[in-house]
Amino acid sequence: MAVSDHVDLPTFMEGVNKRNPHQPEFVQAVQEVAEDIFSFIEDKEEYHAQQILRRIAEPDRVVSFRVCWEDDNGNVRVQRGWRVQNNNAIGPYKGGLRFHPSVNESVLKFLAFEQTFKNALTGLPMGGGKGGSNFNPKGKSVREIMRFCQSFMTELYRHIGADVDVPAGDIGVGAREIGFMFGQYKRITGHFTGVLTGKGLEYGGSLIRPEATGYGAVYFLANMLRERGQDLQGKTVVVSGSGNVATHAAEKVVQLGGKVVTLSDSGGFIHDPDGITLEKIQWVKQHKTHRRGRIEDYVAEYTGATYHEGKTPWGVPCDVALPCATQNELLGEDAKLLVKNGCIAVSEGANMPTDLAGVHVFKAARILYAPGKAANAGGVAVSGLEMSQNSERRAWKESELQQMLLDIMEGIHNSCLTYGRQPDGHIDYVKGANIAGFKKVADAMLAFGVV
Ligand code: NDP
Repeated sequence: MAVSDHVDLPTFMEGVNKRNPHQPEFVQAVQEVAEDIFSFIEDKEEYHAQQILRRIAEPDRVVSFRVCWEDDNGNVRVQRGWRVQNNNAIGPYKGGLRFHPSVNESVLKFLAFEQTFKNALTGLPMGGGKGGSNFNPKGKSVREIMRFCQSFMTELYRHIGADVDVPAGDIGVGAREIGFMFGQYKRITGHFTGVLTGKGLEYGGSLIRPEATGYGAVYFLANMLRERGQDLQGKTVVVSGSGNVATHAAEKVVQLGGKVVTLSDSGGFIHDPDGITLEKIQWVKQHKTHRRGRIEDYVAEYTGATYHEGKTPWGVPCDVALPCATQNELLGEDAKLLVKNGCIAVSEGANMPTDLAGVHVFKAARILYAPGKAANAGGVAVSGLEMSQNSERRAWKESELQQMLLDIMEGIHNSCLTYGRQPDGHIDYVKGANIAGFKKVADAMLAFGVV
C-alpha cells in the first residue's frame, strides 16, 4: 500500500531549496506561502496525499528563449526571454511581462507562483503565469523598443493564446509595449483575439485597466481600515515607486482624504511634507512616463520638498505605508522603523515588496498588513474583465467597471476575513490570502486527479 508523503515544513523547504538552487526570490515566495498552508492542511490528508503544494510550487513549464534585435547603430543585441506557466487549474495562464535588467528565472518563477494565488483570489477563472526579459528599456529609442517587442513576440506567440495564456504588462511594459507586441502577434497569426491585456482602448482594451492596481490597493486598504472603524481621512501616507501602481495609488489616497508625502524611484525618494496633491501627481505621471524623467526633478518643480538619494522612504513617520515599486524594497529593519513611528497599516501595491523578516515584524506587531497577492489583485482582476469583454466582443462602461473593481476588492477582503481571523479577533491577512487562494486552486487540482 502506498504511504502518503506527509513531510514537515523544514523538510518541505529543504526540498524546494535543493530543487531550485540560486533562486532566492522563488524560494522566499514558496516559504511565505508554505508557512501558512502547512498549518491549514495539517489535518487534511487528501492535500498531503496528492502533494498539492509540492505540485503548485513546480511550474507546469518554463519556456526560455533568445531574443535578438538590432539597436539604432546597427549593433546586434542578444537578450533572454522567458514565459513561466505556473498553474492553469482554474483558467488560462495569466500574468504580466516584465522588461528590466534584474529579470531572471528566479524572479519570474516567484511572480508566477504568487500570481497563481492572486488570480484565484479575484474569483475570476485565471491560472498563474509571468514572463519577461532582461531587456532594459531605459535609454532606448521608441524604434529600438518596437524592434525588441517584435522580436520577443516572434518567439512568444507560439506559447500563448486567448484560451491558453494571456500576458499583460508589468515593470517596463506599458500600453505602448503591449501595442507593439499585439501588432506583431496579429501579424504572425492573422488572429484578432484577446491574447494580451492592457491593450489600447481602440483595439480591445478595457477602461480603468491602468488605474486598477493602484486604486485596488487603496480600496483594499479602505476595507481593512473600515474593519477597525477607521478611514483614510487625514491619514499621512508614505508611497514608494512613481510608476503606474504608485501614482494611481497616490491618486486614490488623495481622493479619499489622505495625505501622500513621499514617492520614489530606483534613484531615491522625495519627501513633500505639504502633501503631494492631484496636480503634483499628474506632473509626476507626465515626467516619469512620458518624459522618462527622474523623481529627483520633483524638488526643482515644487519647493518645500526634499530629495534623498539612494534611500527608501520608510523612515518618514506615517499612518499608512504603500510599497508600490518592486520586490524586497522593504526590509526587516524598515518594517521595525515603520511600526516604531506609529504606522498602523501597510497595503502592498508591488509584488513581494516586503522581505520575509519584514513580514514577520508586521505580523508580530499585529498591524493591518495586506500582502500583494490580495492588495494588488485589482490589476489582474480588470485584466480578467478585459478578457471577458474581448470574448463577448463588447466594452463595458467605466461606471460598471469601477463598481466591479470595488466589489472584487471587497470580495478578496472577505476571503481574507474568512481564513485569516484569529481567535482574538485579529485578522492575519497574509494567512487569509494564502489559504483562500490555495484552497480554490487545490480543490480544482484534486478534481483532475494526478496530471
Ligand atoms: P512601473 O515600471 O510603472 O514602475 C516601477 C516603479 O518602481 C518605478 O518608479 C521604478 O523606478 C521603481 N523601481 C523599479 N525597480 C526598482 C528597484 N530595483 N529599486 C527601486 N525602485 C525600483 O511598474 P508598475 O508600477 O507597473 O509595477 C510596480 C510593482 O507593482 C511591481 O512589483 C509589479 O510587479 C507590481 N504590480 C503591477 C501591476 C500592474 O498592473 N502594473 C499589477 C500587480 C502588481 P525607476 O523609474 O527608477 O525604474
